[in-house]
Amino acid sequence: MAKVAINGYGTIGKRIADAVAAQDDMQVVGVTKTKPDFEARMAIEKGYELYAAIPEKQGDFKKAGVSIAGTIHDLLKKADIVVDCAPGGIGAEHKPMYEKAGVKAIFEGGEKHEVAGFSFNAICNYGKAIGRDFVRVVSCNTTGICRVLYPLDRAFGVEKTRVVLVRRATDPGDIKKGPINAIVPDPVKLPSHHGPDVQTVLPHINITTLAIKVPTTIMHLHMLNMKLKNTPGPDEVRDVLAKAPRIRFVKASDGLTSTASIIELGRDLGRPRYDMWENCIWEDSICIDDGELYFFQAIHQESDAIPENIDAIRAMMELENDAQKSIQKTNKAMGML
Ligand code: NAP
Repeated sequence: MAKVAINGYGTIGKRIADAVAAQDDMQVVGVTKTKPDFEARMAIEKGYELYAAIPEKQGDFKKAGVSIAGTIHDLLKKADIVVDCAPGGIGAEHKPMYEKAGVKAIFEGGEKHEVAGFSFNAICNYGKAIGRDFVRVVSCNTTGICRVLYPLDRAFGVEKTRVVLVRRATDPGDIKKGPINAIVPDPVKLPSHHGPDVQTVLPHINITTLAIKVPTTIMHLHMLNMKLKNTPGPDEVRDVLAKAPRIRFVKASDGLTSTASIIELGRDLGRPRYDMWENCIWEDSICIDDGELYFFQAIHQESDAIPENIDAIRAMMELENDAQKSIQKTNKAMGML
């Protein structure tokens, strides 16, 4: 039973905590917060032991009547592995603390590849994570692109990929960021960072990405274009993607015409926090035009990388050596059927 600490119980941290708790080969030994707000109270209500992420702020919890079991240093003494879910860039500052405590650590996509020297996606490189001390689970967008590139490359050979990312402006709970009434090239200068990030997992893939930010909070939308070495028909593409893990086909003809209706589907499925862990590919969009493949997919930014974190824990803790078995175990325990 791997003992897992979550440092940073926010958008990603709380979802990873629940996903760990759903597995039978790992357990949550504690979660951290910097402040005693409603999320801290909810963590306790759910049965997680709460620790102060910043030891100097312990007093704030006492003042607010939120009971904590200690500080991050106390938590690390109980853990085999920590998942760092602090805001982007802070994980790198935490690395020396994890090294000193002798715990393995997973970092999230807001950190640079160099923080761990290894970037992970379960379907692409599970085997290379086995026994590692430090792993970075790539961001939501990179996870979504890697999940489709890997099986298509194996089946048909990817000569060149272009992806236009229409990015949600921020997460639903974040009231500080925008835009609220604009479309923003992000960045203006091409390419966006997403292509190089995909190459941290799949270095041989020729990829260029462009991104814009739009006033929505619920999902990203990707427009993919691939030149494949062996040109398949759309049915063959569909068959390959249907067999790949963590892919869900949606159909505009079923009324799933937008990211909003996909989130409504998540609600109807009774998913926790309406999470859609899978890439949602519009089946009716898959087409071959002038020998090149095109399709649309929607990515739920808050949740698609969560199952990847579970597989990373399993690989690093050497609980399972087979990628497919770990992926299936994670999916089943989370309710991704
Ligand atoms: P978030 O919602 O802002 O949550 C961050 C959490 O970290 C909060 O619980 C915060 O606690 C805590 N925290 C703040 N400062 C800390 C510190 N010094 N030490 C420990 N914990 C600290 O952020 P997030 O969206 O979950 O992002 C976490 C990581 O996941 C980032 O690397 C991000 O790039 C990546 N990621 C995010 C998304 C997404 O869409 N949100 C998708 C994929 C990957 P308090 O609230 O108590 O201050």
